[in-house]
Amino acid sequence: MSRPLLNVENLSVTYRTTKGPIEAVRGVSFELGREKLGIVGESGSGKSQTGRAILRLTAANGSVAADRFDFDGIDLLAASEREMRRIRGNRISMILQDPKYSLNPVMKAGDQIAEAYRVHHRTGRRAARERAIEMLSSVLIREPERVYHSYPHELSGGMGQRVMIAMMMIPEPDIIIADEPTSALDVVVQRQVMTTLGRLQKETGASVILVGHDMGLIAQFADTVGVMYAGKLVDVAPIKQMVEEPLHPYSQLLLQSVPGLEEKQERLVGIPGMPPTLINLPPGCLFQPRCPQAIPTCSQVTPVLQSPAGNTGAGERQVACHLYD
Ligand code: ATP
Ligand code: SF4
Repeated sequence: MSRPLLNVENLSVTYRTTKGPIEAVRGVSFELGREKLGIVGESGSGKSQTGRAILRLTAANGSVAADRFDFDGIDLLAASEREMRRIRGNRISMILQDPKYSLNPVMKAGDQIAEAYRVHHRTGRRAARERAIEMLSSVLIREPERVYHSYPHELSGGMGQRVMIAMMMIPEPDIIIADEPTSALDVVVQRQVMTTLGRLQKETGASVILVGHDMGLIAQFADTVGVMYAGKLVDVAPIKQMVEEPLHPYSQLLLQSVPGLEEKQERLVGIPGMPPTLINLPPGCLFQPRCPQAIPTCSQVTPVLQSPAGNTGAGERQVACHLYD
């Protein structure tokens, strides 16, 4: 296997607050090759903070630590701010939930792509404009000329997100971090946007980290999935194994709450109980108060992410749960 692009070992993100330190990300480790990795979990599980730490966009009251945190041989903890600026938006791009916050509201969508292309590739205006239209077509926009001349508020949510994806592809990034890129869209448009992203990933060979709470959407997109709970990765598996045989009780519940395409959102049953606040954490498994399969050890001993007992796979499968010790 080729050298991973990203090596993350024992990553933690801690926030100073007046109530005490919040341990938002706790001991997260993974490697990212040329693949599509999904990170899934409920709100507050630390998935966004993991993505933001990679770009060193953690808020000022936060601190990031790791045993290893390398992107293509660059130590992300030691890199200068100048080096990080070069990485952000060039080698690692981030697509956020709402394109409204990323697009300039008073500039036509196409002009924004053309201008970014011109600056990045040092081309003339006409070449940049032609390339912008090609890029709009490549994200499956059927009337690229019309969209080119539209202002962001004139675009539908799905269209705006495709424009953003086109913008993000301009520097030909090595990694795209897509943080809930479609959660503001309806189910059908969500799938279309994800298909677009998947197709571009295949064409360009970029790696993608897709962060989200919808296991169904992630399952349709990712090669590998990591489930996060209370700041930790608790279940990591190739997507087929995760869907067919989820091991961690939390993953099982996340999969049970995935609706079919035809089902309406309001019929969804969530996972009972609430995730813990990440201050003054107790010992044991933090999922224990919500876990239907808990055993006495669970409230005393913290489970470690490891290959499940009896696992005959190539070591890709990992779970943090006493049921598999
Ligand atoms: P969401 O879907 O809500 O974005 P998430 O899994 O992405 O969920 P994170 O944004 O990663 O969650 O946040 C993890 C934890 O870190 C949360 O408990 C959140 O309150 C806390 N947190 C994030 N930013 C700060 C901050 N600047 N100061 C204090 N706590 C923070
Ligand atoms: Fe449930 Fe125990 Fe496994 Fe935690 S360690 S998920 S409480 S069975």
